[in-house]
Amino acid sequence: MGTPGKLPASMDYRRTYIRELFALAPGTEAAAYGWVKTRRDSKGIVFVQVNDGSCFQDLQIVVEAGTIPEDTLSHVSTGACVRFDGTIVESPASGQAIELKATGLEVYGGADPSTYPLQKKGATMEFLREIGHLRGRGNTFGAVFRVRSAAARAVHRFFMDRGFHYIHTPIITVSDAEGAGAMFAVTTLLEVNEPLEAGAGDERHFAYRLKSMTPKDDFFGKPAFLTVSGQLEAETLALGLTNVYTFGPTFRAENSSTSRHLAEFWMIEPEMAFCDLDGNMNLAEEFLKEVIASILDHCGADLTFFNQRIEPELLTTLDHVVESPFERMTYTEAVKLLENSGEAFEYPVAWGSDLQSEHERWLTEVKVKRPVIVTDYPKEIKAFYMRMNDDGKTVRAMDVLAPRIGEIIGGSQREERLDQLTARIKAAGLPLEPYWWYLDLRKYGSAPHAGFGLGFERLIMYITGMKNIRDVIPYHRTPGSAEF
Ligand code: ATP
Ligand code: MN
Repeated sequence: MGTPGKLPASMDYRRTYIRELFALAPGTEAAAYGWVKTRRDSKGIVFVQVNDGSCFQDLQIVVEAGTIPEDTLSHVSTGACVRFDGTIVESPASGQAIELKATGLEVYGGADPSTYPLQKKGATMEFLREIGHLRGRGNTFGAVFRVRSAAARAVHRFFMDRGFHYIHTPIITVSDAEGAGAMFAVTTLLEVNEPLEAGAGDERHFAYRLKSMTPKDDFFGKPAFLTVSGQLEAETLALGLTNVYTFGPTFRAENSSTSRHLAEFWMIEPEMAFCDLDGNMNLAEEFLKEVIASILDHCGADLTFFNQRIEPELLTTLDHVVESPFERMTYTEAVKLLENSGEAFEYPVAWGSDLQSEHERWLTEVKVKRPVIVTDYPKEIKAFYMRMNDDGKTVRAMDVLAPRIGEIIGGSQREERLDQLTARIKAAGLPLEPYWWYLDLRKYGSAPHAGFGLGFERLIMYITGMKNIRDVIPYHRTPGSAEF
């Protein structure tokens, strides 16, 4: 378009990003690539806020009258993709040290202000979910996805620093696992027919047809599902590699719409040989502290935003979590505290029944005011693979509960004794045959071992203060909802 004062354009990722522009000295020539957040016109000057996702802060561009032809500048509106060339100058405005005095402009893609959906400030989270393909350009979701990325890095670093091996457990599983949740079937026996008839508008009527009713005819020759947990397979590798972890997608056909459950989420599952429940709790606590400390270190501006706009006590509680030891108590002690709390819970508390979200929140938010690890649950409400205590009633389970969200980690010391494990599988009404390899581990070189599962999205909710799990993953899958 031939605007004066342009630098040679770079279409190479080794450019200078807006995050780096803030460190340049006044007088430096620079180019800013990004999307326009806002444009404000005032007597002979146009102020444009541009962001490229490299950091929370927008770069302010100052365009003085006459420097850029009106027919190009007219395309600069919220949502437009641009490159501004110019000179870094000291900024008179508060909250920013520098700004870019524009000398040139390239508009890569305009955004018609009469239809661009991400215009107004204060749009609801529900509305932003409907424009999930655009919400990453706004303050909130830019910050969420930067924190999510930084947390993933911190997770890998935490384990790698300690010599854990990153393993990949199957996503398609044939072991009906552990009853951790309802499963999605994986099959090629289902034929999806093209629309039978045209529906109204975009609505098209597909029809399913089953090619066979026999699992033997299916792709794997038996029923297969999307995994609800990589734990059982992780255990096999821990009994050989000692310390391993998974970090991958997990699927549960949870048929309730809560703000803490997704049908597709990411789970982190460490598994350690020569480890008991205490060692497991130590790892969980160290893990949460280190990942949170890393985000406090690397994502300060994003967290400050969350603290101001999303969760007022966020920074205080995160600092507090990093510094104070987690409370540890048995399930039996927790039930006593709840019974004596004087609270009128919706679900009554009684030894033997699972803790509800309201109970978990009371323990962490009212009673202890920091994360709590509850251990030794009744065997009836926990999975068969958890190690039986000598009382014959409780198992070596642990749930890490956090203020605001309740359960964030679930784990246990595993049952390593063949007889006990066999009895537990039978008692759970499960067939032994599919677990032949899991039982083999207890026959050949069994070892005390332990591990846990942590929902990555629950962690991101906790760190950002976001209230709904749908808003900490780019595209959520929940009952009735799989857009994008
Ligand atoms: P909850 O009682 O909250 O449903 P759970 O007992 O089913 O959890 P586990 O089977 O122990 O959970 O799974 C380990 C971790 O995975 C949980 O602590 C939680 O952080 C996470 N998680 C479980 N189900 C979901 C889900 N549907 N969406 C997102 N994260 C989940
Ligand atoms: Mn569950």
